[in-house]
Amino acid sequence: TEELLIKSEKLSVVGQLAAGVAHEIRNPLTSLRGFVQLFQAKEDMNQDYLKIMLSELDRINDIVSEFLVIAKPQAMSFEVRDVRQIYYEVFSLLETQATLSNVQIHADIADDIPMINCQQNQLKQVFINILKNAIESMTSGGNIHIEMKVVDRHIMVRFIDNGCGISEERMLMLGEPFYTTKEKGTGLGLMVCHKIIEAHGGCLHIESELDKGTTVDLILPIEEIGVLQEA
Ligand code: ADP
Ligand code: MG
Repeated sequence: TEELLIKSEKLSVVGQLAAGVAHEIRNPLTSLRGFVQLFQAKEDMNQDYLKIMLSELDRINDIVSEFLVIAKPQAMSFEVRDVRQIYYEVFSLLETQATLSNVQIHADIADDIPMINCQQNQLKQVFINILKNAIESMTSGGNIHIEMKVVDRHIMVRFIDNGCGISEERMLMLGEPFYTTKEKGTGLGLMVCHKIIEAHGGCLHIESELDKGTTVDLILPIEEIGVLQEA
């Protein structure tokens, strides 16, 4: 077990280093992005090339951001928050993208959802990643059903889409970093979700059938928060 301990200590040093590097990459990225935008204002510049440069820069930024969440040792400050509110905010963020993709979102949210102790921005990220995946799985439109309810002292949020689904062999690849079937994907979104949900003492469960759709269950414990609120 001692050997294991040393290993995990080493891992966290590597994690810190990686997070540091990722963080440092963002500054030059921001400056590059600014210059590309400046060039866009000039008519004699090839706009197609600039567009590609911007989208590639944004892609690097996406990868680095998601990588940071995974690598960074989490010093998270938890606050008592309403998960419904988090959902509503994410919904308004993604509403336009859904409409543009011809996707309708139906939500069925129980009114007895208690506040929980959580990291609001991180949970938002989880909702965004799951919902985006659902929207992206339906290239010619469809429906997403979201259900939020209390099940055995846990909040369960279920996301059901009728998109392309995931085959059995692809299902096995899901946990792997950088595994993506999308041209513009990072293949880090689900890893980020797992990492955040784990830090909340919850879990993520994915079930899928090819060409039928996917169901993602997000389960968050509410146990300790009850104690916190009473105190
Ligand atoms: P990314 O979205 O950048 O590809 P993710 O980690 O979010 O990375 O997802 C990894 C892969 O899992 C996706 O490329 C896709 O193949 C599959 N996937 C995730 N969610 C869904 C879904 N709701 N429907 C179909 N496939 C999905
Ligand atoms: Mg994704």
